Amino acid sequence: MKFKDLCQCYFRLENTQKKLEMVDILAETLAKANEKEIGKISLLTLGKLYPDFVGIELMLAEKMATKALALATGKSEKSVQNLLDETGDLGKAAHKLLENKTQSTLLAFTNQQEIEQYEVQEIWGILDNIAKTTGEGSSDKKIRFLSGLLSKVTSLEARYISRLIAGNLRTGVAAQLLLEALSKAKTGNRENKEFLERAYNRCSDIEYVSTTLFAKGLEAVKQVEVKLFSPIKVMLAQRVSSSEELLERFKGTCALEYKYDGLRVQIHKKNKDVKLFSRSTENITNQFPDVIEFINDSSLDDEFIIEGEIVAFDHDKESILPFQHVSQRKRKHDIDQKIAEVPVRVYLFDVLYSDSKSKLDSPYLERRENLKEIIEESKEIKFSHQTIAENADEIDDFFHQAIKDSCEGIMGKSVGKDSVYQAGARGWNWVKYKAGYDAQLSDSFDLVIMGAEYGKGKRAGKYGAFLLGCYDEIEGVYQTFTKIGTGFSDEDLDFFFKELKPFERDKPKEFQSDIESSIWFNPKIVIEVTGDEITRSQLHTCSRGLMESDLEGLALRFPRFTGKIVDDKAPEQATTNDEIRTIYLNQ
Ligand code: AMP
Repeated sequence: MKFKDLCQCYFRLENTQKKLEMVDILAETLAKANEKEIGKISLLTLGKLYPDFVGIELMLAEKMATKALALATGKSEKSVQNLLDETGDLGKAAHKLLENKTQSTLLAFTNQQEIEQYEVQEIWGILDNIAKTTGEGSSDKKIRFLSGLLSKVTSLEARYISRLIAGNLRTGVAAQLLLEALSKAKTGNRENKEFLERAYNRCSDIEYVSTTLFAKGLEAVKQVEVKLFSPIKVMLAQRVSSSEELLERFKGTCALEYKYDGLRVQIHKKNKDVKLFSRSTENITNQFPDVIEFINDSSLDDEFIIEGEIVAFDHDKESILPFQHVSQRKRKHDIDQKIAEVPVRVYLFDVLYSDSKSKLDSPYLERRENLKEIIEESKEIKFSHQTIAENADEIDDFFHQAIKDSCEGIMGKSVGKDSVYQAGARGWNWVKYKAGYDAQLSDSFDLVIMGAEYGKGKRAGKYGAFLLGCYDEIEGVYQTFTKIGTGFSDEDLDFFFKELKPFERDKPKEFQSDIESSIWFNPKIVIEVTGDEITRSQLHTCSRGLMESDLEGLALRFPRFTGKIVDDKAPEQATTNDEIRTIYLNQ
């Protein structure tokens, strides 16, 4: 497939808001792809060169991209920067600049006849080359490669190449929509998405799933299983707000575990080769060489995939340290120094693969037994604290002990025959019951920063107040839930200002908001917030359409930032509108 045909599809996608229409548009184009190219097309459509767990990113600093564009168009860097400031979007800037491209002496060779008809795979290859260029002088080389490419493509192609470089295609296509379109394209039926999703949740590899579908068909997709070093999408928990509700969910008997407040980790091991993946399937192996060693020392088997929570641990006092400590371990530099400053312990709670077999469909108690067969405990590797409970008093006792032992609360887990590991799903096989924050509302929310207003006074030059939202898993959109302006330290505000770059003037397609924000962001940062109560709101869109009146949504009153930036959650793993509505109904 020619890259320009794919870009035409992207442009059409950009210009429609309707989900079903988007699926149709994308499916029409994907149906024309062959089995050799569909993998790369799928990756590019998600704005990626590789699945997240590979850890190779294309993202180029804005300055470098500006230089490349200036070189490719013969404009000054200043004028490119001005256009970029005006549009707030590298893609639009590139599109405009190339449309009006003047034939400067520099570019005498790039007249219309010189425009190349690139195949998608060729574009992927060039971008891959750029991504992999490292070492001395690599910045200059990257700029040259990129400007060379930009000067040989049409303005529409430049729009999307630039956006790939900026890390976001802005077409509004997320994995779920792509899976639906792939299903429609190849099987003629969008409903078969369920099988693609099942496969995708098992390997987090869109290239593998789409190629399997196009090369071998739907039956082969149904057989896709867990594979080592390809992270499984994590199972998530529903929430409950009392021990009675917890017990009721599990019809009288359940397992309870401490809910540790740390970093979730999925550990893949084959012989001495160990890799660690975060909750959002990123490869975090390099940040925890100490954990690799502990796992190798504790292993009783050569091959497995297990899950647990990494917490910062004070070995002298034998106590778990708050989340803020372990979160310092996420850095990519000075790792040895941080290992010494912040020792960790891993509390393991599940097995997903062992004995060369997937364990996802084994019941929970069997998986738990299996964990003890393949791992032996050590000072740094422990099994999560667990008990079986049959009445509310037992649950309350375990809960209070968990809080005393510096945990966030407890997890209730089904012990029934169907207590399988639901990869990528937030089912009722697991529930979380968390401690309150001394507020009326006994729960906290992980919300996405959607927009901001510039600060005044002491906060001038930074963002002051933020618009926060939840995620609607069904529609794949973000809905506003509250506005927050207090509780942030200067460091927090500096961090947000550094990390969050304004989106173009209009709000992103996947945002449902009636509130006008001065600045919109691409969904990126998730923060933990608590508040006084959830009220009905004419202003906020959270759960709108699920309430008695279609004009009403839900809002969080008196929000407070707890100080926790939940940086191991992807925006799609934020608290959902459904969860919020359940809490509202139980309030
Ligand atoms: P939440 O982040 O509030 O949605 O709660 C779910 C998270 O709790 C999981 O993703 C894990 O990172 C964490 N967690 C802590 N302890 C456990 C445990 N014993 N079992 C499962 N998850 C746990």
